[in-house]
Amino acid sequence: MRDSYRIGRILGIPVELHVSFLLLLLLVFIYSIAVNFQAFIYLVLLFTVVTLHELSHSVVARRYGIAINRITLLPFGGIASMEELPKNPVQELKIAVAGPGFNFIMSAVTLGVLYVFDSLSLIFPLFDFSISSPMTLLAVFFKVNLLLGVFNLFVPALPMDGGRVFRSLLALRLGFNTATEIATGIAKMIAVLFALLGVLLPNLWLVFIAFFVYLGAVQESEMLRVNFLLSGMKVRDLMTHGVVSVSPDITLEELAELMLERKHMGYPVLSDGGRLEGIVTFTDLSKVPRGEWGRTRVADVMSREVLTVTSDTDASEAFLTLARAGVGRLPVVDDGVLTGILSRTDLLRALEVMRLKRLGQ
Ligand code: ZN
Repeated sequence: MRDSYRIGRILGIPVELHVSFLLLLLLVFIYSIAVNFQAFIYLVLLFTVVTLHELSHSVVARRYGIAINRITLLPFGGIASMEELPKNPVQELKIAVAGPGFNFIMSAVTLGVLYVFDSLSLIFPLFDFSISSPMTLLAVFFKVNLLLGVFNLFVPALPMDGGRVFRSLLALRLGFNTATEIATGIAKMIAVLFALLGVLLPNLWLVFIAFFVYLGAVQESEMLRVNFLLSGMKVRDLMTHGVVSVSPDITLEELAELMLERKHMGYPVLSDGGRLEGIVTFTDLSKVPRGEWGRTRVADVMSREVLTVTSDTDASEAFLTLARAGVGRLPVVDDGVLTGILSRTDLLRALEVMRLKRLGQ
């Protein structure tokens, strides 16, 4: 099952709803019909605030030339998936602060409007979220922004914004690796604390956030381990040379035969001039009914947008590219010429060897 679903694009960035948000949507929908229509207003409010928060991260990231693959919305926040990690701690810091910063600006503006309309008293009590008039709606908008901003910025748990701020501040002094090690350790402790608190209170929300933080922290430290094990290695040390490529003009029938014979499931597609035109995999083949293989050419089914690396790319960077793109292999292209191919298997094998080597030291 997929864990998020695309609902549209804002500023050219695909926006997806996480399953938990969809579940919440369904629950609130039933609840608002049966009990209280206001619940629906809350949901729209939360949705708007969280989206704006993520867009703020994205806009700042873009300014540093970091592309945003998609924004995933969760009930308590969102994730802007970046193409690559920010190049330096200061960039990460600014990107992380942008989200909560926007929330604080929104709450300040709302506060100003409430002041002008002589309704400042509506913000107390702070945890009262009832809406009975446009002014109380504004007051709730203020509270939601304030709480989301505070919660995201001041909980120092990776992958939450506060954790990113914490990590980047540490990284300025200790370097990225040590900083990540410390930050993920603390994030895991906070996650366990949240989970305990969530069970004791009981508060399902906290348990859910605990899960999210814990998994995120594990992912970050996993990345760190890969960086460490592959440090100093280049793509050329791991890639497969003498790649078998195919012409865009052969049929899928011929491609299937080649796959059977060579037992490789993916091939770069080269034009007559030796230019890389795309990549064709077993998945592309399997989408076409068996009966049409004789009539369909590789050019009709191959992926044309191919991520490539050079043989001089750091192995850990290539690993990140593979993982983020969710592909199995990357063509290695030097000066426009295909020199090899780097597969996920190549990298996993190298990781395993390096792990054993370091264990033996
Ligand atoms: Zn954020």
